[in-house]
Amino acid sequence: MTIKISKYIGFCFGVSRVVNSVFKNSDKKIKILGEIVHNEILINKLKKNKNITFIEDVKEVRFGDTVVTRAHGEKNNILKHLVDKGAFLVDMTCPKVAAIQNIVEKSSRKNVFIIIGDKNHPEIISIVSRNDLSIIIDNLSSAKNFISDVKFKKKNFISRYIVAAQTTYDLEKYKEVCDFLKDNLENVEFKNTICGDILKRREEILENAPKSDLVIVIGSEKSSNTRNLFIIAQKFCKSILISNKKCFDFEILRSKSKIFLCSGASAMKETAEEFINSAKKYCLQNKLDLEIQR
Ligand code: SF4
Repeated sequence: MTIKISKYIGFCFGVSRVVNSVFKNSDKKIKILGEIVHNEILINKLKKNKNITFIEDVKEVRFGDTVVTRAHGEKNNILKHLVDKGAFLVDMTCPKVAAIQNIVEKSSRKNVFIIIGDKNHPEIISIVSRNDLSIIIDNLSSAKNFISDVKFKKKNFISRYIVAAQTTYDLEKYKEVCDFLKDNLENVEFKNTICGDILKRREEILENAPKSDLVIVIGSEKSSNTRNLFIIAQKFCKSILISNKKCFDFEILRSKSKIFLCSGASAMKETAEEFINSAKKYCLQNKLDLEIQR
């Protein structure tokens, strides 16, 4: 049996940046606003650090507090509130998310901004907070509803539309919605805002899942890019999404010969290494051949 390990296992650039910042600042008392990244193992580890307090509400911030914000970005009014309160703000919004926030802010005066993504995702909430006229489209069916509404209100031909995607949105679904909007709107400009890191992981799974009989995706179910990798892999072979080695039944290895192991952008490399070590131990104990390919 072979287990091929993804080239991109572990954190993306934006998640590494925020996690490093938390560790760098944790020699003093800091407050972290919300779920800093979608990784329960990491959050639980940080909660054990006496210098770190997780808060859900800006009301818990006092003058002089150091507050670290998440890679997904925060709503504009929350950032303003923190500054007004006299907090020392460590804004860890990923630069790729900040780039979309910029597009929205610049487009706010004369254009209608459309973001394609999950309306409940913190990134989308942070982006639309920058323009009251932003429109969120979740999928093709909400795009169809939007177009019927535009036609009903005869808004078409009046405005210019700028369309962008959540950084972790699925590329195929984005193209599908864009093609539909292209056919139904005039004066529309499409921005390519899906994160390059996400696209590389996607390409890699598209190349490897068809050659495998099992794909293991490490990450949180809350993470949209992790779920997307899992959904893609499922189209080709048996696929399992696990947050850590404890959730995995190693017995399944007995019936598999080609396994591909990858992770979402907010999963730790250590979690993958722990999984690999457990797989090695299981194979040794059960006299199974195992080759790890990196
Ligand atoms: S996935 Fe991309 S956009 Fe999201 S935090 Fe990571 S680097 Fe930034």
